[in-house]
Amino acid sequence: MNLRYTDPDVLVIGDTPVARGEEKTLRLHISKHFDDTEFSMAVRVIRGPLPGPVLFVSGAVHGDEIIGPEIIRRVLAAKQFRLLSGTLLAIPIVNIFGYNAGLRYLPDRRDLNRSFPGSKSGSLAAQVAHTFLQEIIKKSHFGIDLHSGSQHRYNLPQIRARLDDPETEELAMAFGAPVVLNARLRDGSIRAEADTLDIKIMLFEGGEALRFDEQAIRIGKSGVLRIMEHIGMIPRLPPSLPVNTYRAKSSYWVRAPQSGALRAMRSIGARVSVNSRLGVVTDVFGDFCQQVTSRTEGLIIGENRIPLINRGDALFHIATFEDSDTIRTLYQEFTDYPELVLE
Ligand SMILES: [Zn+2]
Repeated sequence: MNLRYTDPDVLVIGDTPVARGEEKTLRLHISKHFDDTEFSMAVRVIRGPLPGPVLFVSGAVHGDEIIGPEIIRRVLAAKQFRLLSGTLLAIPIVNIFGYNAGLRYLPDRRDLNRSFPGSKSGSLAAQVAHTFLQEIIKKSHFGIDLHSGSQHRYNLPQIRARLDDPETEELAMAFGAPVVLNARLRDGSIRAEADTLDIKIMLFEGGEALRFDEQAIRIGKSGVLRIMEHIGMIPRLPPSLPVNTYRAKSSYWVRAPQSGALRAMRSIGARVSVNSRLGVVTDVFGDFCQQVTSRTEGLIIGENRIPLINRGDALFHIATFEDSDTIRTLYQEFTDYPELVLE
């Protein structure tokens, strides 16, 4: 990894200067709610004694994806967390409005991750995006954005990133999530915005909204620490940590062939082949029933967990890999993913 990245002697976030070796928690003012409540985004700035890269780690860009704040909390509490160089910007809750309401979006019903670059005088989502871009993204060299599946949708822990960029690919593999997916940039997203600024971003996905998932939290936590190790911010981690990451060739969603109730027969982490039976959809009286099948060999990395579905709803997210051996190995490893006891 090219370590040409250097943080300034004094880094100013909002209007707060933070010198090398200092640690500060500050609040970036966003807006006032109609009941007069002040809304601000909390940022923990931790600076190592030596120069190095600036890494941001963000959670709850989608307000109900509460796994991100928990991962950040555990990273900061980890005994391996001893910052030698560079700067960590930890923002557990980016979408403060959604987080308070237990909702994915903002009160203006906009998706924060489609609202970048935002603007100071735009919608509420645009204002949050603007502050996050100006104060956090633009001051960083690297970023890890922590997500989970949306409500009733569960994701196997995975990294999504632009793998055609060699440096981003190296980081994505270093994170150590079971699966890495090449993900196209979406307009208005943090990743798309950061890409224009040549800031290397990884998006972590694991578990589902409004739930803690211990496995996803542990993989997320160890992944953040591994990235910090990889870019030279913290001392070397114990070599016993498993690093078995598989890069998917592609992925696709299997959608509901008809509306009704789904009886799922396969679940997250399962291996599938061409035409594997994943479930059956039936109507209310059971007069019509249709099989849900996979199109290719692969591994289920995302699933819908609410059985009442409409035709076209996304049911199973299947990742495909170069060969059957990879799928078999990954399946075995994932069903017995090692405990990552870092505390
Ligand atoms: Zn999300």
